[in-house]
Amino acid sequence: MTKPVVVAVGIGSNLGEPLAQVRMAISELASIEGVTLRAVSSLYRSAPLGPQDQPHYINAVALLDCVLEPLALLDALQAIENDHGRVRRQRWGARTLDLDILLWGEAVLDLPRLTVPHPGVPERAFVLYPLAELDPELAVPGRGRVAELVAACPADDLSIVEPPPH
Ligand code: ATP
Ligand code: MG
Ligand code: MG
Repeated sequence: MTKPVVVAVGIGSNLGEPLAQVRMAISELASIEGVTLRAVSSLYRSAPLGPQDQPHYINAVALLDCVLEPLALLDALQAIENDHGRVRRQRWGARTLDLDILLWGEAVLDLPRLTVPHPGVPERAFVLYPLAELDPELAVPGRGRVAELVAACPADDLSIVEPPPH
């Protein structure tokens, strides 16, 4: 058996009942073959990144035990995004569901389709606060521990709207 890697996935939605989209995405993550859900953060509300003429986001982070190869997990995440009717129009524009691979254990990956750690991790409050809730000791390779990064990151108008789903 391949030893599972702990993978952090960022979940975001700001269209079509975002709370429901995020809750559903969490159960879909848990049902990917080769993936076991370890833990899920609270559900957060955050201001949009980039274009401001779009609704607020609901965000969460899930920690997975994963025996898949990185690109196989990315394919599975993109299939879930597509099932949620995601249409890509504008960079950082409104979307029904975004699933980003934030951390792949302590690996650094620089592939055409996949950059890990996700470049947004060190500065995005809606990623760092949920990650810190799950495990502040997590390492972001090349950037330090989540605990240090979150201490340097203003919370802006991030707020918790719901406890972790179980
Ligand atoms: P951001 O990545 O800044 O959060 P986004 O999530 O809106 O923006 P997407 O449209 O979801 O961007 O993804 C664009 C492409 O990014 C995808 O097709 C995917 O191949 C690539 N990508 C690179 N690294 C990652 C990663 N760590 N997780 C998910 N997708 C990634
Ligand atoms: Mg994203
Ligand atoms: Mg994305």
